Amino acid sequence: MCGIVGYIGTAPAAPLLIEGLSRLEYRGYDSAGIAVLGSSGLRVTKKAGRVRDLDEALPKRLAGKIGVGHTRWATHGAATDANAHPHCDATGKVSVVHNGIVDNAASLRDRLTDDGVEFHSETDTEVIAHLIGRSAADTLEEAVLEALAAVQGTYGLAVLHADHPDRIVVARNGSPLIVGVGDKEMWVASDVAALVRYTRQVVYLDDGELATVTAGGFTTFTSDRQPTQKRPTTVDLSVEDYDEGEHRHFMRKEILDQADAAERILRGRLDERFGTAHLGGLNLDPRASRAIQRVKILGCGSAYYVGQLGAGLVEELARIPADAEPASEFRYRNPVIERDTLYVAVSQSGETIDTLLAVQEIKRKGGRVIGLINVVGSTIARECDGGIYLHAGPEVAVASTKALTNMAIGFALLALHLGRVRDLSVSDGKRIIAGLQRLPAQIDQIVAADEDLSTVAGVLAEAQSLFFVGRVRGYPVAREGAQKFKEISYRHAEAYQTSELKHGPLALISDQVPTVAIVPDDALCDRNVAALHEIAARKGPLVVVTHAGVDLGHVDATRIDVPQNEPEIDPILLTIPLQILAYHAAVKLGHDVDKPRNLAKSVTVE
Ligand code: GLU
Repeated sequence: MCGIVGYIGTAPAAPLLIEGLSRLEYRGYDSAGIAVLGSSGLRVTKKAGRVRDLDEALPKRLAGKIGVGHTRWATHGAATDANAHPHCDATGKVSVVHNGIVDNAASLRDRLTDDGVEFHSETDTEVIAHLIGRSAADTLEEAVLEALAAVQGTYGLAVLHADHPDRIVVARNGSPLIVGVGDKEMWVASDVAALVRYTRQVVYLDDGELATVTAGGFTTFTSDRQPTQKRPTTVDLSVEDYDEGEHRHFMRKEILDQADAAERILRGRLDERFGTAHLGGLNLDPRASRAIQRVKILGCGSAYYVGQLGAGLVEELARIPADAEPASEFRYRNPVIERDTLYVAVSQSGETIDTLLAVQEIKRKGGRVIGLINVVGSTIARECDGGIYLHAGPEVAVASTKALTNMAIGFALLALHLGRVRDLSVSDGKRIIAGLQRLPAQIDQIVAADEDLSTVAGVLAEAQSLFFVGRVRGYPVAREGAQKFKEISYRHAEAYQTSELKHGPLALISDQVPTVAIVPDDALCDRNVAALHEIAARKGPLVVVTHAGVDLGHVDATRIDVPQNEPEIDPILLTIPLQILAYHAAVKLGHDVDKPRNLAKSVTVE
């Protein structure tokens, strides 16, 4: 989940590494460090805290045109200066930055300690530096290969060695690594975000692949020492995509970008004539689509909740039994993989390790899996049999907004597509298409109500604990709303089915515990309104996310009216005000909205 950046070329490395790290900070941000190799050898500066703290701590003169840098999301050892990367060997000649986890670090550490090695950090990563440093191999590549042969676990790795000042050696196993190609200068990074300012020509390493990167070029090879042939591809992203622009936060920028993002995912995919969706990337012909007996959706965190929303859409529109499950749990229960089930992996980054491992479990057992992924060319996207790219554009804020909305729209497209090869009528298909086409304008309408939502958020932010409730279509909305709220406001927010309140949690309702209730104008509206009265009778403050036509009776509630679409599609829109509530609550509480504590974007460690 950390960020790795490396540079080798003709310019001083340090400022470039700092700039790259600041672009990667959203991937992990509890500490940062760089190592630069100059005429006086390897110089390492590392600091707990943010990249700007590191920048301030850098020595004034830090010459050297080759270096590596890292922003950390701690897995082994607290976020301290000593635990920050890069890590060095005993001679101080080797410097390693690492993304991932060394599973056998404890036994390797014991072995090295028995051999007299002194450790300077609590990290799992440091063992790699010592293993490389102790290798008797002539080349850095061979030393890295030897070290990695002893290592079990996941890594994206970049290694510098003072005795081999013309190269950076990188390796990948389970954590993304790319090489950026410039003119007489080269880059390595864990994410294109670090590179787009300098080059758009990138090479994605595969698992089990390594690369030697020099100022003049790169070569790739496998852990079996076989050369591989890799050509650079051009990434279609620019530096503005990773810039807040005039916005105070990335999250705000991304909330505002949602209408355009919705247009992007829909573009070219709606077939008005036949009332269906064109999804060529699914790689499912009509016969295969018809044969699907079940849809199983796998995602983590918000992607799981939106998966639950997606399961509802698939059941409603395609009448195929569907459910969602946290990908992080899936493979541990030795899941039965069914031949006629369509598995769907959902991930913004396409690098979420838990989701990736679930995909691999399914594939190992011969199942068919498609992806709903935002990042083109990402690992999960490449491992799936097909999929739907979300085209939300880069998402930098840790709390997902536009990618999530596009995941939900992606599910609507999938459900429509599957529905139309089964029993969904052409007129219903056309009705859904018309609904999807209305989404961008309706999203803009919701986003325009920012001021009102900010006022409501101010009140909610004062509570220590909140409920988010909804039923059937509204329940995944409530779950996602609670998740977003707790992630960035750090308030306790719990989601419940509205119908379940009276079976237990109603005991907690008081004038100190507000409830955000999702009450769409659908068949359950009366039951939902009745529950609001039960909450109000216990003095529970109420915020109701609903439609203009809904009569709440004489209940004392703050209402947020959301533009109405087709009932199946409404959950997509109902989610959006909840993002905005969470955003403003976090701003009012003075939190770092884009980088909530303890979290990171793109969870690439187990
Ligand atoms: N496991 C390593 C550590 O705790 C790397 C964590 C990361 O990916 O940032 O230092």
